Parts: sequence; C-alpha cells; structure tokens
Amino acid sequence: ESKIEGIASSIRVVPHFPKPGIMFQDITTLLLNPKAFKNTIDLFVERYSRMDISVVAGVEARGFIFGPAIALAIGAKFIPLRKPRKLPGEVISERYVLEYGTDCLEMHVGAVQPGERALVVDDLIATGGTLCAAMNLLERAGAEVVECACVIELPELKGRERLNGKPLFVLVESH
Ligand code: 5GP
Repeated sequence: ESKIEGIASSIRVVPHFPKPGIMFQDITTLLLNPKAFKNTIDLFVERYSRMDISVVAGVEARGFIFGPAIALAIGAKFIPLRKPRKLPGEVISERYVLEYGTDCLEMHVGAVQPGERALVVDDLIATGGTLCAAMNLLERAGAEVVECACVIELPELKGRERLNGKPLFVLVESH
C-alpha cells in the first residue's frame, strides 16, 4: 500500500456534518494512525526541505496540527494565523467571504520580515477563500509565499483557481 493510499484511507468522511449535505473530511482519524500521520508529515518535509523556506504559516485550527511539525523538521519558524481577537499583540487582519457571511484571519505584526520565503499550511482546501486570505496576510507583510500545502483538496469546488496562480500541493483529492 502506498503512503498516499494509507493517508487517504485514514481520513474519515462524516456525512451531514456540520450541516445537512456536507460530506465532512475528518482528519482526526488520520491522527490516530501514527504511520499515516508520520507519512503525511514526511511527504511535506521531503518536498519543502530543499525549497529554502524560512517560515511556515498555519491556519487555525487544523493548520496548527500539521504546520508546526513541518516547520520543526525543515528548520523554519512557525506563525499561527488566527481567528479574530485571539492574538495579544498588534495584528493585521484579512476578511474573507464564506458561503454564509464572512470570516477573518489575523497575524501578528513583525512575525515575518519582508522577503522571507513562506509556506502556508492547512488541512483542506474547499473554495480556497481561507488560503487566499492567509496568503494576503503574508504578502501584505512583505513575505514571498512560495506555495500552499494541504492534506486534502476538494477539486470540484475549484479552490485552486482562487489562489491567483500560486502553486498548491495536496496529498489527497476527495470527490
Ligand atoms: P475554504 O476556505 O477553502 O472554502 O475552506 C477551507 C477551510 O475550511 C479550511 O480551514 C478547513 O479546515 C475547513 N474545512 C472545510 N470543509 C472541511 C472538511 O470537510 N473537513 C475539514 N477537516 N475541514 C474543512
């Protein structure tokens, strides 16, 4: 069994969560499989250890599960991109549109220096709005976003097309 197959089969699909019609991709079952969890991190580390990345930014909340392990392994710093009013220091904010209403991500001012090469990590890309907001925060601070990385992509939602041509690397496509 390939690493990717082991990862894909460890992700549980929960129908009608958090609301009717949604097929929720549950990565907590991947975390219960140490071999699949390690393979997930290893595949990202193999890709990014030679790309001269100095900062990994993780999106709250599930980007905090994968991002720090990647950052430690490649010798990069980690920046949490958080929901509003969680960070205690001075922040910049980026608002983005959801299916119903809007949401917002925040980043500490001074967490990244102009010209730093950044990787953005989340568990899943659906419409791409979240990753787009995350990239905007880093770019407003002068960082160069090298790539976005997710465990899962829902290709039908065409989130990739919202990333303004920025490369997206995913391990598993879910249809
Ligand atoms: P997007 O902004 O691309 O539409 O949605 C992606 C965000 O919503 C990510 O932060 C992701 O964690 C969350 N998300 C949306 N659907 C799912 C899902 O089915 N499973 C998981 N684990 N996260 C999801």
